[in-house]
Amino acid sequence: MRGDHNIDSSSGALAQLRGVSKAYGSLRALDGIDLCLRQGELLALLGPNGAGKTTAIGLLLGLIRADAGEVSLFGLDPQDIRARRNIGVMLQDAALPPTLHVGELIRLTASYYPNPRSVAESADLAGIGDLLKRPYGKLSGGQQRRVQFALALCGRPRLLFLDEPTVGMDIDARQKLWAAIRHLVAEGNSVVLTTHYLEEAEALANRVCVMARGRMISEGSVEALRARISLKRVWCNTRLAIEDLQAWPEVAEARMDGARVCLSTEHPELLVRQLLAQDITLSGLEVRAAGLAEAFTELTRDDTAAHDSSVALQEAA
Ligand code: ATP
Repeated sequence: MRGDHNIDSSSGALAQLRGVSKAYGSLRALDGIDLCLRQGELLALLGPNGAGKTTAIGLLLGLIRADAGEVSLFGLDPQDIRARRNIGVMLQDAALPPTLHVGELIRLTASYYPNPRSVAESADLAGIGDLLKRPYGKLSGGQQRRVQFALALCGRPRLLFLDEPTVGMDIDARQKLWAAIRHLVAEGNSVVLTTHYLEEAEALANRVCVMARGRMISEGSVEALRARISLKRVWCNTRLAIEDLQAWPEVAEARMDGARVCLSTEHPELLVRQLLAQDITLSGLEVRAAGLAEAFTELTRDDTAAHDSSVALQEAA
């Protein structure tokens, strides 16, 4: 039997913040945010440094208390043991006993859960089968992160919180961890992921929430987020000067990207027609929709601009 069927997640919300605020002294870390995680989804929480992501996760884990609003985990208070034994957690600042062997750490962590995975299965999923006899303190940073991932999943939790899980990992380790996360989601589990790697959110998330200054500034699928920004990118090899291109009305921004110019535009068809007309030697033409990285930059820049003008208005009043 999996999980605890006595707890209420019938609304479909496994974890929820409703109108939640949290301040540290005079600093408002969260300002009335809503967040809802549903069964079987991987939600990526994005935002610049200090946006409030770790605070939001700390509230859902019951590590800190909200000043206002409602916080629930499986329909219960996050500190309720019935909710807690359904979650697995990988935080940024995990302090684990350095002298314990990896196998012992997994066995110990798994013992807190009613229906854990075996040590071998946990190690296999995290790709650390060869590290089980090594003392934790003697591992590299990237190896320690993988062990922390094994500890997060060994209890067979229905919901995983992964706070910047691939920091310090090389490309190979990152790809393997992504595959393991996909496997867990395919099993029907849910994941809340925070990351600064936008390609990580792009590769894994069903839904992306973007936070800035303690508020939720955007929420939706990666596709929907991309669609919110109208800019397209046009790359080409051209003999036209970049300063001249920058002055064209169709060009929002011109820069060099290796040997090619990269032009941002809201009117790609018009721009391409113009380029071909002005430069018969034009080659290497490529037109792409903006990626999550551009959408993220634009969203957070808009939020900063809105905030700055509201501060200026308040100061002027
Ligand atoms: P990062 O991407 O850098 O991890 P974050 O989005 O996780 O940032 P938080 O760690 O939630 O952001 O921090 C939100 C704000 O609250 C920041 O301004 C931070 O300095 C502040 N803050 C967080 N924890 C504390 C604390 N214990 N005491 C005082 N201020 C805090």
